[in-house]
Amino acid sequence: MSNPISFFENVNKSFDKAAKFTQWPNGILEQIKAANSVLRIKFPLKRDDDSIEVIEAYRVQHSHHKTPCKGGIRFSDAVNQDEVMALAALMTYKCAIVNVPFGGGKGGIKINPKNYSEFELQKITRRYTSELVKKNFIGPGIDVPAPDYGTGAREMAWILDTYSSLHPGEVDAAGCVTGKPVSQGGVRGRTEATGLGVFYGIREVCNTHKVMDKLGLSLGIKDKRVIVQGMGNVGFHTAKFFRAYGAKVIAIAEYEGAIYNENGLNEEEVFQHRKKTGSILNFAGAQNIIKSSDALELDCDILIPAALESVITKENAPNIKAKIIGEAANGPLTVEADEILDKKGIVVVPDMYLNAGGVTVSYFEWLKNLSHVRYGRMEKRFTENMNKQILGQIEELTGKKVNATERAFIEHGADEVDLVYSGLEETMISATREIMETWDSNPEIPNMRTAAFIVAINKVGTAYDELGIFP
Ligand code: GLU
Repeated sequence: MSNPISFFENVNKSFDKAAKFTQWPNGILEQIKAANSVLRIKFPLKRDDDSIEVIEAYRVQHSHHKTPCKGGIRFSDAVNQDEVMALAALMTYKCAIVNVPFGGGKGGIKINPKNYSEFELQKITRRYTSELVKKNFIGPGIDVPAPDYGTGAREMAWILDTYSSLHPGEVDAAGCVTGKPVSQGGVRGRTEATGLGVFYGIREVCNTHKVMDKLGLSLGIKDKRVIVQGMGNVGFHTAKFFRAYGAKVIAIAEYEGAIYNENGLNEEEVFQHRKKTGSILNFAGAQNIIKSSDALELDCDILIPAALESVITKENAPNIKAKIIGEAANGPLTVEADEILDKKGIVVVPDMYLNAGGVTVSYFEWLKNLSHVRYGRMEKRFTENMNKQILGQIEELTGKKVNATERAFIEHGADEVDLVYSGLEETMISATREIMETWDSNPEIPNMRTAAFIVAINKVGTAYDELGIFP
């Protein structure tokens, strides 16, 4: 891409901008920024046609101010050490902002998963896991991977199985990886968590008078015109929740092009259409946009880049017409793009907290694994019985009865997914408010990204400081 400095440098540049607003001495700031451990491995893969290929892979533990380290594993042919370091650093800041007690980590395997059979992918994932075990780079208390770009629940199940077979009898083994299928110790709500977190974060921004007045937008999500770039897990679920809460997803962009319909697109139908035809284009009722990146420049209220990094650069930033950009992907804007958008008065809601829904629900999954009990199991019936009693008493005293829908709503005791959504909603609302308060606290703080970094730096700085590792 056109970005002249590396991704890790990009992250550190944003960090440095924010560090000026904090009181930490240089040494502590340097320690916060440093990527503590970098593992680079190569291993052979015997392909289905019997040829042998050497696979390149990484795991970076950016910070150990809290353990375990936490962060996804991506499968992409763009993976390199710099990228994994940058993404691991973002995980440290992300976890700090949303009060998830982990250090940042990230893994990457340099492959395009589309070029490999399922059996080959399984061999790669299992071998990568055993390499991590050998190097002590994985474990419920050491480093806990999760899905990222190009990986999902299937790969996480392979990781757990490999780890468990190398640690027979380890009672907490399920906590060595998150984003697992529910049958393997996963938590309900993890699949949609990042998209839902993006939605909760943007909704809170849209409920903030000061921001919306400045942008000349009405309060709330209803009828906001949204563009989503990327129909992977994150983009798909973000679109889904925006639509469910009354926004209009007017354009969706993918590699092969984009589609536009000012009355709103239904992401589920678009997904099915793409599955059937192999392309997002020619969707009924929508206009084709042949050059996918043109969709980013359409007029809208909220733009959600939900694919890879550096899609908005100094070249296309001047043409962006959105009023709010929600960074669902990690690092979708270059530093130069960020500056241009700032000058244009666009509010950029930064990746490192906006897409924290995934890791937040991963934290809930990890807690579930360590406690060996499904959320809601102990209290669901109790709550329902209690609610029935209370409602019955009220009905008796008032002589009035509620209808069946209201009864079901009032009596319902929380299931696992209810509790996960509720925990995520609380996390995203509190994080948004904390960042907003920091932004408001000093007129010199230019934007939400800097405010978010300040929050992160102060939390990690305090942890290092109180650990007393700088005697
Ligand atoms: N890959 C996701 C992220 O970048 C999730 C990480 C996790 O759940 O540990 O935040």
